[in-house]
Amino acid sequence: MSHIIHRSLRHTPALAVGARGMHVFDSDGKAYLDASGGAAVSSLGHAHPHVLAAMQRQIAQLAYAHNGFFSSAPAEALAERLAADAPGDLDAVYLVSGGSEAVETAMKLARQYAVESGQGERGVFIARRQSYHGNTLGALALGGNAWRRQPFAPLLIDVPHVAPCYEYRGRAPGQSQDDYTAALLAELEAAIVAAGPHRVLGFCAETVVGATAGAVPPTPGYFKGVRALCDKYGLLLMIDEVMCGMGRCGSLYAIEQEGVLPDLVALGKGLGAGYQPVGAVLARRHIVARLREGSGAFQHGHTYTAHPVAAAAALAVQEVLAGERLVEAAAQRGASLMARLRAAFGAHPHVGDIRGRGLLLGIELVRERDGKQPFEPELKLHAAVKECALARGLMVYPMGGTVDGRRGDHILLAPPFIASEADLSEIVSRLEDALANALAGAG
Ligand code: PLP
Repeated sequence: MSHIIHRSLRHTPALAVGARGMHVFDSDGKAYLDASGGAAVSSLGHAHPHVLAAMQRQIAQLAYAHNGFFSSAPAEALAERLAADAPGDLDAVYLVSGGSEAVETAMKLARQYAVESGQGERGVFIARRQSYHGNTLGALALGGNAWRRQPFAPLLIDVPHVAPCYEYRGRAPGQSQDDYTAALLAELEAAIVAAGPHRVLGFCAETVVGATAGAVPPTPGYFKGVRALCDKYGLLLMIDEVMCGMGRCGSLYAIEQEGVLPDLVALGKGLGAGYQPVGAVLARRHIVARLREGSGAFQHGHTYTAHPVAAAAALAVQEVLAGERLVEAAAQRGASLMARLRAAFGAHPHVGDIRGRGLLLGIELVRERDGKQPFEPELKLHAAVKECALARGLMVYPMGGTVDGRRGDHILLAPPFIASEADLSEIVSRLEDALANALAGAG
């Protein structure tokens, strides 16, 4: 029995002992083809020599310096690079240790900005159902996944949730895409008005919904409409790109494809690409300027804020992304993987939808295609797919989302951007086999 509190308290997962390129190896010598980048993290693949060397140099030079005493060269260089490459004036950077911490930090930055702008009554965030923003209490409160929230409900702040932009489930038969988008925006506006516009601090959303719904991109114009509503009522637009950012969707920031400038962006996962636990918040210049001219401090901080080795790793990741043109590769390989998935599963009787952007792709499983009926939650089909895939040496990231108040199943694919065409072909053929096996068990 392991002394670690694992996710499952009844089952200790296999022991990973090594990883290289597209593969992770366990203690039995079995190789797993990493088609999910862990949880959409490993964008460069494993053991990239440039990142390893940067980390080794930094550990030897300066492993740690508390941010209350010092800044460090890698943290300054990373922030400068992120600021230079970010859209618009998103050039104020706060470095943390992961995605949830980034979301919490963005929430606090937004709140302090409101207070110092003489708008202390603004304290409500609006977010969306079927979203995931992290597992710490503030981030969990923003998230709209009912089963994740349910046991912790008394600990969570009150967050009104509106419908996600989830065309496959949300757009009624015969409804045009524009009408569907307009209806979502009307719902958001009604929620702002109901909460009292002067009380609402911000709206939070993932550009492309990741784990909770399975790579769901927005409809055209959705985020432009959201931005307009935020401007109309004085809300901050907080975009969570922890999963979909850092090149995964084929542009460094997924929101760039929407032609919209958010006020705050949360990053994690691909920022460190798995080499170090690191996240970041990017804020528009005027937000931090307000604090600088006001109290002169951001009332926040953690022991590992702006950790030098984490920053060195993340900076090296940025260098590899640019030097090996991996963001472009994510777009190209993503198109290829999408075409392969459509060819393999487009007519599959239990595949209702295939979607996503770049190398963040999702397959939604249904009992029958016409009525889009999900599988019974008790079957835990997503868990069976994961196990069948692992048995075939394939890592995919299946999840049970919430569909119409019940659990539904989808499979998330998020391979490293270095995947070759041969890797993509292997991913699809192993997935076909794993899905057939899992479905045979589901009856
Ligand atoms: N936001 C999104 C969109 C995520 O997908 C995740 C993690 O899956 C998080 C936030 C939380 O990140 P972390 O697990 O690093 O705390």
